Amino acid sequence: MTNSSEFNSDLPNYKLCPKLLVGQKALVTGANSGIGQAVAIGLARAGADVIINYVTNDAAAQEVVKLIEAEGVRGMAIEADVSKEVEVVDMFAKALDAFGTLDILVPNAGLQRDSSLVNMTLSEWNTVIGINLTGQFLCIREAVKEFLRRGVRKEVSCAAGKIICMSSVHEVIPWAGHANYAASKGGIFMMMKSMAQELAPHRIRVNSIGPGAIRTPINTAAWSTPEAYAALMDLVPYRRIGEPEDIANVAVFLASDMADYIHVLFIFVDGGMTCYPGFATGG
Ligand code: NAD
Repeated sequence: MTNSSEFNSDLPNYKLCPKLLVGQKALVTGANSGIGQAVAIGLARAGADVIINYVTNDAAAQEVVKLIEAEGVRGMAIEADVSKEVEVVDMFAKALDAFGTLDILVPNAGLQRDSSLVNMTLSEWNTVIGINLTGQFLCIREAVKEFLRRGVRKEVSCAAGKIICMSSVHEVIPWAGHANYAASKGGIFMMMKSMAQELAPHRIRVNSIGPGAIRTPINTAAWSTPEAYAALMDLVPYRRIGEPEDIANVAVFLASDMADYIHVLFIFVDGGMTCYPGFATGG
């Protein structure tokens, strides 16, 4: 029987990425670490020019820009807090000024402020909802204005715009001690579906990805010790942690014309976490 860490080293070859997005312009929020960084590099590897948004750590953002440019495309970093309307509007103005237009938006920025219900402050609640949910709304609204203004650019894509919301398995799995986070991701579910209904006639595709346990700074405590990793594997039937590139690959596909007839899809990329593995032997 192979143990968890051996499974963990048995990763796919993430380099096999066709140039599906040549000529397209993308913006990824919260992209100077973790999933956002991997998505930004994945989109660049597929041929898109990519703007990354960040809120802290300019040095890390500039490193990601270098990695984007190393793929032979244009990269740029814009600082903005996605929960602040003025900053989001300003970010899109700068992005359009620099890149001319936009084809792909991945509203990915997010965080956790964990607390038991009775100890959760209004500030912890509002911070998480403000960034994880309102931040996505603000960025999507600004991106859609540009998609509607410009329409389809047949030379690069069949669609006028592609939006890929970053949700979570906690869109459907309740999470005690994280009511603010689960509510923000549950909110993305109906926000995305409602926006998708409104935007489809304009050839704007809206989908979302629900990552399971992905190895990033947001959840270091869940994978950084052997004990924590082993406990995590009880929740992951596929018996390995997800890597940010697992999410990037799906984002590239959803952004591409390979997925042109895919609209309002919630795709979980979670090694089976949403099949409730506790019920494999119980219930
Ligand atoms: P991460 O902490 O590495 O990345 C989150 C990014 O969001 C960081 O770059 C952070 O600076 C940025 N951010 C936070 N507040 C911001 C703000 N106000 N404005 C702009 N950027 C801001 O963690 P990650 O795991 O890469 O998370 C990315 C997304 O994936 C989040 O939405 C998270 O909820 C989601 N997600 C992650 C996992 C996982 O297991 N890692 C699972 C499910 C969902």
